[in-house]
Formats: sequence, C-alpha cells, structure tokens
Amino acid sequence: MSRLRLMAVHAHPDDESSKGAATMAKYAAEGNDVLVVTLTGGERGDILNPAMDLPGIKERMPEVREEEMAKAAAALGVQQTWLGFVDSGLPEGDPLPPLPAGSFATVPLDEAVEALVRVVRSFRPHVMITYDEHGGYPHPDHIRDHEVSMAAFDAAGDPERFPDAGDPWTPLKIYYVHGFVRARMQLLADEFTKQGIENPYKEWLDRWKDRDDLMARVTTQISCGEYFPQRDEALRAHATQIDPNGVFFAVPMEWQQRLWPTEEYELAKTRVKTTLPEHDLFAGIDGDE
Ligand SMILES: [Zn+2]
Repeated sequence: MSRLRLMAVHAHPDDESSKGAATMAKYAAEGNDVLVVTLTGGERGDILNPAMDLPGIKERMPEVREEEMAKAAAALGVQQTWLGFVDSGLPEGDPLPPLPAGSFATVPLDEAVEALVRVVRSFRPHVMITYDEHGGYPHPDHIRDHEVSMAAFDAAGDPERFPDAGDPWTPLKIYYVHGFVRARMQLLADEFTKQGIENPYKEWLDRWKDRDDLMARVTTQISCGEYFPQRDEALRAHATQIDPNGVFFAVPMEWQQRLWPTEEYELAKTRVKTTLPEHDLFAGIDGDE
C-alpha cells in the first residue's frame, strides 16, 4: 500500500504528546506521512514542572515552547507546523475574565478555518484527527480547535470556499481523539491496589463518578503499546509543561502495555465505507491517491 497521510490538529504544543501520540508514532514508523498542526504557540502555558521554573525561562516562553515542540516531533517521528495563533490561556475565576484580545478563541472563525484549509490543501491528508465538541477538556482553544477542524474538513474540498487557499482537497475521515477514558484509568487504579501501592488516580476517579464514560463513544481502537516509550519521550520533551514526577508517569510502562495497549478514537465523519468497530484509522481507504 502506498503512503497515506494523517493530520492531527492540536491546540497547544504538548497536546499532541498527551492525546494520540503513540498512534502517530506508529503510523509514521509504518511509512505514512504524519503531520501535527499546532494552532497556537502555547504562550500562556504556565511552568508546570518545578525543575524548569528557572530564571529566564518564563521570559522566553514562546521560544522555549518551539524548542520543546521540535524535540517532541522528533521523538514521535512526525512533521509539525504552526498555524501562528496566540494561546487564549485558561480563564480562571468567578466570573470568568474575558479572553485576551487577539487570542485564538477570539479570532473570527473563518479566519482560522482558512488558515487550516490552506494546510489541508497543501498536505492533503486522507485522515484528520481533532477533539470532540467539548474540546476533550474545557479550554477555549480546545473547543475552538474542534470547530475549526470540523469546518476545515468540510471546506477544504469545496472550490467555492477560500479560493485563494490552494487547490481543493477532500479529506476522507475525521476522528475525535479520546484521551481521558474512565475505564482505562479504573483498570490502572485497580492494578495499583492489587500491587499494594497507593492509587494516584483516586481523586480523579471520584471526581468522574457521575460522568459518562467516553468509551461509549469510541469506535476505533489503535494498538500502539510498543510506541508508548516514544509517547513518553515526546511528553518529557515538553519539559516546562510536564512534571516527570507527576501522575502522567506514575504508571509503570509494563502495566500500560499489558493492561491497555491502545489509544481510543471516535469516527466523527467519513466519506468512505467502513465497518465499526475499527482498528485502523485508514480502514476503508485505498492508498492510491
Ligand atoms: Zn492544550
């Protein structure tokens, strides 16, 4: 089969490493072209790793995040490009403060869609990945990521839309990546208990008790356990954002690979015939385009 092209649209540098990273590493290792599109520069990310809270880092956050992103992309073996919008930050407080002027979530939708359509028409992905309608997590840039990706999926193949943004290209499928699956966390939590170790997920699981498990929406599971080490290397590359002693790294690799060696997706729209459940994002697609 000839090379296929996969494009994942993420809000901030580091999102690509925490959501579907092993899937991308796998498809890249298998000879496909994989492109991460990062919508914003992550300029408003706080330093979440105490070891990186050093003089000079905060002052040059945009450059630091570019360097981290380049390392993460190299760890995953994928290409990466920036769309150039400015991080909206996660508004906190009651009432919530207004979004910063000019930030990504305040940019008119069509302006962001045209920018993404331009990349879609140039890279010509067969499959796109984005977040669900809740953004996977309630950050204004993540919700906007969903809106912009879905609009670009529909507009890119239409010659009437954004005629100055390149020759039309019609992507065939678009997925939501579901990172926070309760059933997975419960399984790992049970393993901690079984091994007589304190369960680091207890608080999260208690908080999630009343929420529907996203597993009910999952249509597609990708076996990618052998790429989990690359995912972790990519996560660690985002050194200001990820605490290597944090909960992300609390679960031994062997448990993850043994108990839950997949990443989860929901087929949101398809223009090809496929049968659910799926185990391949390219299912139903011929590689001759
Ligand atoms: Zn993000």
